[in-house]
Amino acid sequence: MEKKTAVCGRFAPSPSGRMHLGNLWSCLLAWLAARSQGGRMVLRLEDLDPDRCTQAWCDQVMRDLEWLGLDWDNEPVYQSRRTDIYRSAFTQLEERGLVYPCYCTRAERLAASAPHRSDGVVIYDGRCRRLSSQEREELSRTRRPAWRVEVPEETVSFVDRIQGPFSQNLARDCGDFILRRSDGVYAYQLAVVVDDAAMGVTQVVRGSDLLDSTPRQLWLQEELGFPHPEYGHVPLLLAPDGRRLAKRDRDQELGKLQSRYTAPELVGRLAHLAGLIPEPVPITPAELLPQFSWEKLPKEDRTAPR
Ligand code: GLU
Repeated sequence: MEKKTAVCGRFAPSPSGRMHLGNLWSCLLAWLAARSQGGRMVLRLEDLDPDRCTQAWCDQVMRDLEWLGLDWDNEPVYQSRRTDIYRSAFTQLEERGLVYPCYCTRAERLAASAPHRSDGVVIYDGRCRRLSSQEREELSRTRRPAWRVEVPEETVSFVDRIQGPFSQNLARDCGDFILRRSDGVYAYQLAVVVDDAAMGVTQVVRGSDLLDSTPRQLWLQEELGFPHPEYGHVPLLLAPDGRRLAKRDRDQELGKLQSRYTAPELVGRLAHLAGLIPEPVPITPAELLPQFSWEKLPKEDRTAPR
């Protein structure tokens, strides 16, 4: 009989505020995907940005997950405590000549005649890659650089469990991206790849706003010799006016929702929206386990219930 690798899913919230309905939706689906296969679930607090993330928000995130009925294995991992691990991955890439300093300010990047993608994202034009060592030296007298990784002209393709086949050309669709910010903070793309590997994550279920980060992450995994997890990008929850839910949508943050719904009521509404149950009846995450299947999940974004 074929031996299946044990599944390990993860929660990776950014503790920069109270979770909103969209965060809960991704967390619930990630938990169901892993636990319904008898898998493990780990928690990583993505608190790399010291200006936005606090211990109080980390504690709140954990209380909120527990309130909803979502549990995890092992101690939570805090990204802010793992700088040495990110530095060692960064150094590996640097030693292979893949990393260069970028002195561009945000204004310069936006003003550059860089190609824009159809969704408005500006692709870095690689200008600092072409600086001479003398130019670098001059710039470094007045500016602290960010550090970018040089991506090849290579198409990365994968099959998402929910969205289906997806591919991007790294040079054309992403451009050289930042591994370390000018204030020394390691960037999301690097940290997430290092941590998913270090934590043994085999299954990443997250919002579809991160679908287009995945080719970069798959490529970094390859470069660093890490295995590839499988990916499932869940559709986003939208506000009634069609915008994506954000932390500023106060009426959809958990503090407010808790005054309107019990945890099983909220879980039932989310599960109904995800196509897992026919009516939005109160239910616990554990009771939902037999109902979960990838095929039921919608591909399209959904409007959040009021
Ligand atoms: N921390 C990210 C967020 O809350 C999620 C990152 C990920 O799942 O890779 O949006």
